[in-house]
Amino acid sequence: MSKALIEYALYLPNWKFEEGDTERLEREAEKVYAQDFDVNMMDHVFCPNCFTPITRRPLERERSRSNKLAHYSHIPRYQHVPCVRRTPPAQGELFPNEEAAREAIVRGDLIVFSGFSDEPQVADALALPYAHGQIEDPQGPEAAVAIRRHLGDGFYVPGRHRTVLSICRNFDQNLEKYYQFPGQQQPSKLSSQLRDLLDVREEDAEKRLYFGEIKNVVIHRHTTVVWLREGRWIKDFALPASREQHAKRGIREDSVGSFVIFWGQVFGYGIGYCTRPSWGEYAVLPPQYNEHIRQLRALRAEELRVNRM
Ligand SMILES: [Zn+2]
Repeated sequence: MSKALIEYALYLPNWKFEEGDTERLEREAEKVYAQDFDVNMMDHVFCPNCFTPITRRPLERERSRSNKLAHYSHIPRYQHVPCVRRTPPAQGELFPNEEAAREAIVRGDLIVFSGFSDEPQVADALALPYAHGQIEDPQGPEAAVAIRRHLGDGFYVPGRHRTVLSICRNFDQNLEKYYQFPGQQQPSKLSSQLRDLLDVREEDAEKRLYFGEIKNVVIHRHTTVVWLREGRWIKDFALPASREQHAKRGIREDSVGSFVIFWGQVFGYGIGYCTRPSWGEYAVLPPQYNEHIRQLRALRAEELRVNRM
């Protein structure tokens, strides 16, 4: 994918990102290209894509010390806001060596899944929705997982069996963390791994992380089918499982409108599609994070648009 840089800034004094009136910004702001930026505009220039405050690098000179033309850049304070125009850190610079990766694991910035947890064998465990009260990610087996910078240049860090629920807990903070899932060659940001079910076009044998919105919950005798909102290109998407399993994941008849995050493959299912995640491979997102999903959805749509240009 070509790098989408911030081509111009939206300049508008007396506008604040936190107040969120992006329509006014788009209507009233002046487009200012990096070469026309003036230091007095500082704090009043915003990204045309995510609307967070941006800055120019270098701020005052026309060229950097390495003779690169001045350009706009996002501000780290707003890095929790996803944006297609944010420059991703170069792969391989993230965790250049084993020690850096191990430190990131200890800090909780790098999370390595060596597998997904099975349902704990606890009789009559409380089945509560969302994260509260459930004991998950129990002492699982540690496993060696390669983080490869280049093929043949790997090192090993401990991984654990975990659940998708652990991703949903503190979801807003997790979006900026690095995750490596089973089968992946290297870690990448959670926000860049989550795929919108609306964008699925066909069967996919590779396991990936998706989000989808619950449209309907239909209880049959042996199976409860959770229907997710169908995509732009496909019809009907089902998540079938036993009623007990869904209940333990906090999904009931009244879960319509909630978002589900799952790790899985996409199969054909009648005239539509389905996935069959195990207990540890899916969870309902606590509703306080729905806005983050909507931002991701807009970001994925923008990426598709930019990639087609
Ligand atoms: Zn932006």
